[in-house]
Amino acid sequence: MLSSLFVNVCIFVTFLFFSGVLSKKYVIGSRPLTLPVKINSGLLFGLYGMILMNYSFPVGPHVISDMRHLTVVVIGVYMGWLPALLCSVVLGIGRIALYGWSPAALIACLGMLVVGLLCAYISTFSWSRLFKMNMMNLVSMAVIFVTLSLNLDNMTTVMRYYPTQLIISVIACLFLYVITEHIDSSNVLFAQLEKRATTDHLTQLNNLRQFEWSLHNEMAGAKLRSENLSLLSIDIDHFKLVNDTYGHAAGDEVLRDLGKILLAQARPIGIVSRNGGEEFTVLLPNCSSALAIATAEKIRKAVQANVFKLPALSQKKLRITVSIGAATYPADTEATETENALVELADKALYQAKNSGRNKVCSASVLELRPAHIVER
Ligand code: GH3
Ligand code: MG
Ligand code: MG
Repeated sequence: MLSSLFVNVCIFVTFLFFSGVLSKKYVIGSRPLTLPVKINSGLLFGLYGMILMNYSFPVGPHVISDMRHLTVVVIGVYMGWLPALLCSVVLGIGRIALYGWSPAALIACLGMLVVGLLCAYISTFSWSRLFKMNMMNLVSMAVIFVTLSLNLDNMTTVMRYYPTQLIISVIACLFLYVITEHIDSSNVLFAQLEKRATTDHLTQLNNLRQFEWSLHNEMAGAKLRSENLSLLSIDIDHFKLVNDTYGHAAGDEVLRDLGKILLAQARPIGIVSRNGGEEFTVLLPNCSSALAIATAEKIRKAVQANVFKLPALSQKKLRITVSIGAATYPADTEATETENALVELADKALYQAKNSGRNKVCSASVLELRPAHIVER
């Protein structure tokens, strides 16, 4: 019995690990859970339960047990009532489909549906996960006691073997809790790390690393599809003055609000990043030079028109302006050039905008700027 119990636990842990890998891809970041994720996870855990049915372990002569109800418990605790219910439906129908129709199979099927309903109900309570899991397990074991009593028709046998089943279920449940919590917290930490590695903490825009990654990908895509790729390099005019006059915290507030304006104006195609300090970029896939200049002009005007409020300074209001440099692949970079040339040209155009009075848009196309090494040739 111990060896088949061990096999059961190993199978369950493997399933949990696999689900952890899946949830890293599909669940994290989509909290609250989407309906397809809920449905798929319920069906998947139902399938796990059906596989576990095939690995039942003997708890006495002619009495076998398995841990299928724990699939309903686990999915109910971590994903909610709908997956728990779906999982139990799969298990109930699966019981009849796998082992054929009989009054005993019907009782087992109905028992599993009741387990699903009760676990679904318990999953709606705001208890701790550990408490919920144990409650669901105990309630499920109570239902299993009833189904066993009806099916075995011999209370002595039930009373003789049920305690073993109950103890195994309680221990397995605690063990699964430890494993699932570990997988869940690893996934949460992974998501946090991933976000921190790619996001600017102040504005929540892409950071420099993510910008470089996006630029690399978009450039590869543009080359493959023979499309344009435009880049806007944006720098706040006299931002040091904002910090010096209103303080660094007020400057941060302005940077945050500017990030929102850029996101709104660059929608829907623009990839907005804060590349450092008060320097931002907007990457515009499949965007011609003329459209890039128009977008930059739209951004410039929106910033100029915006009144920035500073909550920390009793809602003091201020206005800022930005200078923008635009460059487009392949028109400006010469088709053979890499992403570095695009950045270099957008920066050169920005430099021109700064030097010719600020609060303006300059384009590498219009200025006929060329990447450094082409000028050297
Ligand atoms: P220009 O028009 O030539 O761009 O002038 P500027 O003052 O904007 O440019 P400069 O490069 O001299 O100053 C940039 C300022 O941006 C200096 C620095 O204090 C400020 N800054 C950089 N990062 C942050 C930040 O995270 N928060 C705040 N509040 N200020 C920042
Ligand atoms: Mg600057
Ligand atoms: Mg500046």
